[in-house]
Amino acid sequence: MGVDRNAAVVDGRPLETIETDVFVAGGGAAGLAVAVTAARRGCRVVLAERYGFCGGGAVAGLSGTVCGLYEATEAGTSPVQVVHGFVDEFLGAMRERGGLGEPVKYGKTWTLVHEPLVWREVGDAFLREAGVTTLYHSTVTDILLDGDVVAGAQLYTKQGKVRVRAKVTIDASGDADLVSMAGWPTTMGDNGKVQNPTMIFRLGGVDVDRFRAAYGLDTIMPPEVSARIAEANGHGYHLPRGKIWLFPTTRPGELLCNCTRITGADGRELNAVIHRDFTDAEFEGRAQVREYSRFFRDTLAGCEGSWVIDTGVQVGVRQTRQVAGVKTLRNADILAGAKFADGIARSPWPIELHSGSRPRVEWLLNDFYEVPFGCFVPAQGESLLVAGRCLSAEHEAVASARVTAQCFSYGHAIGHAAALSCQEHIPVRAIRGEDIRLLLDRDGAQLN
Ligand SMILES: Cc1cc2nc3c(=O)[nH]c(=O)nc-3n(C[C@H](O)[C@H](O)[C@H](O)COP(=O)(O)OP(=O)(O)OC[C@H]3O[C@@H](n4cnc5c(N)ncnc54)[C@H](O)[C@@H]3O)c2cc1C
Repeated sequence: MGVDRNAAVVDGRPLETIETDVFVAGGGAAGLAVAVTAARRGCRVVLAERYGFCGGGAVAGLSGTVCGLYEATEAGTSPVQVVHGFVDEFLGAMRERGGLGEPVKYGKTWTLVHEPLVWREVGDAFLREAGVTTLYHSTVTDILLDGDVVAGAQLYTKQGKVRVRAKVTIDASGDADLVSMAGWPTTMGDNGKVQNPTMIFRLGGVDVDRFRAAYGLDTIMPPEVSARIAEANGHGYHLPRGKIWLFPTTRPGELLCNCTRITGADGRELNAVIHRDFTDAEFEGRAQVREYSRFFRDTLAGCEGSWVIDTGVQVGVRQTRQVAGVKTLRNADILAGAKFADGIARSPWPIELHSGSRPRVEWLLNDFYEVPFGCFVPAQGESLLVAGRCLSAEHEAVASARVTAQCFSYGHAIGHAAALSCQEHIPVRAIRGEDIRLLLDRDGAQLN
């Protein structure tokens, strides 16, 4: 039987249309903050998320820690928090429900381990309390365009297609999906080469006290562990990443393991916006989880009786497309601690570049940089902003600016921008970052 190349494409189910002020594509840290902020300002907001929960890379990808809150310092005696705003509120709610640990050491800075199940519940509660119309299990498949003006998006749901008509649309997909659908310019890593994905997993049955006594309190494992990995590679193990992070979690006897380095079977770097690469990353990621967990059980103190609890719902994707924005965060801005009059978010996080055989970390000490509003305004088109890791930024800048605390900050800012655009009838590209900065400070962001 041959394929009928003239077959009509049909979905005969009725199309539902929803009218709204703000449409948000994606419920990661950024999308959630956008939706809740805009709804609290009185906008009608619809959020669509392809999974049945919020959290994106932090939950589905099990990234598991909130980085980007604290200054890095050589002395490193106690954590100094320099990022505030929506993130404080979200983490406060996580803490109240027992879903957040105390700061743990990560090289010259600190991070907070969170419990992904609690994140889902806090996300649900925030959306419901703010009155956001949330459509889980809904994937954006098309953008509605009137010339160069975005009028919303169309979704695939199990009920059939849903069309959301919106005054302002936010691309918080992480992958700049909507910008790409519109055919507007995007960039991709270092000449197309993006940071490699990682399949994160949780290891149970660990004697955490013995583990800490052997390897210390820094969650970046010491050179001794890297040396053992190198040695094991010649003796029956396949462990492609030697420099690894292991985080004791909020649950007893558990480590969150950020250690795999996923490339294609032929050694190529994988890019998750290419469907075959995304699939290969899942295959290879799960295989590596078994290898690393076997190595931990056989080799590391405290892990002798351990087992794999679970992996991420999906492989963790660090980087795909970036929007080409009216401004671009430069690599040099990071280590220079650049500040901008229209800076709407702060970041003290290092360049943490996962490329090649071992991750490279370059520190910004006792300082932070700011991210300008224009990094979220596409160079082309109207009525659409981006939020989150798909901001306009150069390759190494993304390796810093993509972490969770910053994605909350971007979402907080873009939520205000969307509300301002709807309520005061200001085109999104005419919004001034300086004004957003003031609004953020009213919410406790402490930018000025
Ligand atoms: C392996 C790995 C480890 C990391 N470790 C850390 C860490 O320890 N600490 C830290 O702070 N950060 C870490 N990060 C980074 C951090 O997790 C992410 O960069 C951050 O979560 C990005 O947030 P976001 O909201 O921009 O995007 P995402 O979290 O990617 O959210 C995008 C959301 O949009 C949804 N979506 C996408 N396309 C569509 C569509 N077409 N229709 C509907 N929904 C869609 C997705 O399901 C997702 O929920 C890590 C990332 C990776 C990959």
